[in-house]
Amino acid sequence: MNLYPLFADLKGRRVLVIGAGQVAERKIEMLLRAGAEVDVVATRLSPLLAQCKRDGRLQHRALQFTPQQLDGVWLVVAATDDVALNRRVAEAAGRRQIWVNVVDDAPLSSFQVPAIIDRSPLMIAVSSGGSAPMLARLVRERLERWLTPSLGLLAGLFDRCRTRIRAAFPDLARRRAFYDELLQGQVSALVDAGRVAEAEQELLRTLAQPGAARRGRVILVGAGPGAAGLLTLDALRALQQADVILHDQLVSAEVLELARRDAERIAVGKHGHGHSTAQEDIHGLMIEHARRGQVVVRLKGGDPFVFGRGGEELEALRAAGIDYAVVPGITAAVACAAYAGIPLTHRDHAQSVRLATAHCARSIDTLDWRALAVERQTLALYMAGAQLDTVRQRLIEYGRSPSTPVALVENGSRRDQRVIVGTLAELPELARDHQLKSPSLLYIGEVAALARELSWFGAAPIEGRVAALAAAA
Ligand code: SAH
Repeated sequence: MNLYPLFADLKGRRVLVIGAGQVAERKIEMLLRAGAEVDVVATRLSPLLAQCKRDGRLQHRALQFTPQQLDGVWLVVAATDDVALNRRVAEAAGRRQIWVNVVDDAPLSSFQVPAIIDRSPLMIAVSSGGSAPMLARLVRERLERWLTPSLGLLAGLFDRCRTRIRAAFPDLARRRAFYDELLQGQVSALVDAGRVAEAEQELLRTLAQPGAARRGRVILVGAGPGAAGLLTLDALRALQQADVILHDQLVSAEVLELARRDAERIAVGKHGHGHSTAQEDIHGLMIEHARRGQVVVRLKGGDPFVFGRGGEELEALRAAGIDYAVVPGITAAVACAAYAGIPLTHRDHAQSVRLATAHCARSIDTLDWRALAVERQTLALYMAGAQLDTVRQRLIEYGRSPSTPVALVENGSRRDQRVIVGTLAELPELARDHQLKSPSLLYIGEVAALARELSWFGAAPIEGRVAALAAAA
């Protein structure tokens, strides 16, 4: 071990900072956050530091450094770009055995400032011992992504209940198991959901009846359109926590790959034209696993609340008294547009967007076609594959021009993405000529034509009908 890690209590303790530029500013800000009394030595204060001085948050001691300024000081930070001065400060501090950090100069420093992840009171420090600060920063960024912002609230809660937890579990191993349960279970889920007071009650309740069964819950998670990069950080965290994952057929292998290795995976849901095999069975599975005390992730393509029957699933959970949370995902209409270069709104072409689904004859008849056919609107149709003849016929009947551009996006955001552009007049033939497969999303509106110029992902858009087939027709 090259350096000995320690966390210093600087509250009310004097720290001398030499320099008052931008680098010093950052150091001083951290020192003030830790409650230190900061004395600054510098020829000129930056505007921000001058303001701090006026607010009485720091003292401007002198223009020039002298070793006497080190009297009564706990720590020294040299943050000037004058190498000789930095050296003098370091040497003077060394002679008095005062800890000194020279910014970006490990050999001159007797202590290093780590990269930190602040979830106060929880604090994580990363250091490369000055040898590779970039690497430490990178590690910090990675960790930052994994640790929920609410971790600090959880740590605060643990702190408040610590004495009681200790009393209830004097045995270290059992106490550790209890903390583990808190982290995995309901208490931390409540904190994540912004319900800290309830979390505290739940913690105390669990303490009152130790050994009570762990309470399961369901996290309804949107997996996005397929590319794993389009998952949210919360979705990733949920996948890493899951005991069981109930996923739709639509969820890509790339996304499932990111789940906890030993999570049980169960494929449920959509086949063919978007009809669920047995929605009640899915409800039953969620409830059954949650009742066993498991963390169930119900993983859905896109967003769970956009044509995903997420609402029904929550109703079932609510009726069964199961706790739940929802993590939104990027819905196909938004994702496919981005990946095809189709701006959903555009000042010149469309001021509104409408999402609709047209998966069967029955749903087709319940749609408000007058509203769908409105000009200067982008229409995004989910599950439209089988109903394209009717879609064309109705939209034209209600006034949309046959020359309105359309785009079909198949497997949007995935490696095998295809984009087919043409006009409303030739819509069903476009799909037939190119043997359009599922999943695919249909855009109707002027912006669909922009895919020709703006496409950037995968193969270039396919233009119009297959000539031979068009001639034969
Ligand atoms: N909840 C999902 C939609 C489920 S309905 C969401 O928010 O995206 C299923 C329909 O979504 C498919 O029939 C198709 O129209 C569309 N879809 C989902 N993923 C898609 C993708 N990667 N490419 C094209 N369409 C997609």
